[in-house]
Amino acid sequence: MIEEKENKNTSEKTNETSDVPDGSKRTFLKFGLAGAGAAAATATGVTILKRMEGIPHDDFPLHMDDTYKPIDQRNVILTFAHSKKLNEKHPERIEKFNNFHFYERYKQFLRQPYRTDPGYTQLDRALQVGGFSGVFEQVPDGIDGTDSGVFSWKQEMLAKEKYRFSSKEEAVLAIKSAARLFGAVRCGITKHDRRWDYDPMYDPVKGDKELSWEKDFPFVPKTVIVFMVEMDYHTVGTAPAWTADGTVGNGYSDAAKLSGQMAIFLRQLGFKAVASMNDLGVNAAYAVASGLGEGGRNGSVITPHYGPRVRISKVYTEFDFVEYDKARTFGVASFCKNCKRCADSCPSKAISFEDATMGPTYSDDPEYTWNAAQGILKFHNDAKKCYQFWCDNDSGCSNCIAACPYNKPDFWHHRLVDAQNVMAPGPMHSFMREMDILFGYGKVSDPEKVKNFWQTGNLI
Ligand code: SF4
Ligand code: SF4
Repeated sequence: MIEEKENKNTSEKTNETSDVPDGSKRTFLKFGLAGAGAAAATATGVTILKRMEGIPHDDFPLHMDDTYKPIDQRNVILTFAHSKKLNEKHPERIEKFNNFHFYERYKQFLRQPYRTDPGYTQLDRALQVGGFSGVFEQVPDGIDGTDSGVFSWKQEMLAKEKYRFSSKEEAVLAIKSAARLFGAVRCGITKHDRRWDYDPMYDPVKGDKELSWEKDFPFVPKTVIVFMVEMDYHTVGTAPAWTADGTVGNGYSDAAKLSGQMAIFLRQLGFKAVASMNDLGVNAAYAVASGLGEGGRNGSVITPHYGPRVRISKVYTEFDFVEYDKARTFGVASFCKNCKRCADSCPSKAISFEDATMGPTYSDDPEYTWNAAQGILKFHNDAKKCYQFWCDNDSGCSNCIAACPYNKPDFWHHRLVDAQNVMAPGPMHSFMREMDILFGYGKVSDPEKVKNFWQTGNLI
């Protein structure tokens, strides 16, 4: 099966629509081979493969201190933007952010008139809206919905009898096999961890309700199963045009369907389960804890083979007869230190150029940094600026996904370069960043990419 995939990925058809000129790709291939040779000279192939699988950690791999607190969901930008009541309660937040009206602007989404430039026409808007329509069919309250549609907290279809797996390994394999069938490209299983839950939870859609884990949630969760679905390389490449939102919306639609099906799968095995996407807890933290990737400078989880080009959903369940995955590091933090391509490509300057810190450094005014996490060593970005650009763009953005050197199609020579990346960090990372730019990867705001996307129908 793997061989078939590699042949498909290196076929002429795929190359025709890639954003990298053929000659450059040949050079890049030689570079990859040369790099792999160099890596092989310094380490055995087995060591390389082990490093590519990541270094396992017994604990959460990011440093935290005792100032860290679970996030109050009312402070999540999209929750705040959804809620008229929260906006009225906090006029100081609006005032501090140049009188930007989060809620009013939220209501204006998808209202800008069509334009004539590539990426912003009626055709492009149709792709964007079509992509998201799958979420709204399954989750009437939308991507941030809580206890809605397939994310319902009602335990419907719960089997009376609990299925007994013969071993924890068998349970893991069964869960991941079902996840693969329902559309996951990655699945990790981790212990439920109150640090990553929103507390309190907040539903800005159905009457601005504060929700408690103890009083409202239908069971005591023990395990969180995390899923990733892939977004399309060609479509992400059109960022920040409306077309890029076509694959973002489609990714959300796929992720909602998948987690909804997995919740039913677990209930049919006799175990309570609730599907979730942007509600309940922080997807990125649970994905890192379950070994699916590392947090990047751009705030996304960077996962092997797909980089940040994934959407994440999850299931909370009472099931716990399972071998938990360990968090793993793949060298992303080290690569991000020198790369900064996402920060260069960010139209709102929301992404930090600094090294990882324990809290935000873009401001020390609590009335400005109200949405920021504290006490955790990571890249702290200004999500308000990001949201403002989305409103101005009448769409998401995705520049920081498109620009990332980890965002590559699954060509085998990219995997060779990945191998070299984990074996030879430091100056090699800066060199690889420059090579990426030289060979045309990660360019954003390029109308040609929109035109190329609308030719990808030739691939099927
Ligand atoms: S989505 Fe766009 S605006 Fe937001 S952080 Fe990424 S590049 Fe910046
Ligand atoms: S673009 Fe570079 S700095 Fe940003 S997340 Fe990707 S690897 Fe890290």
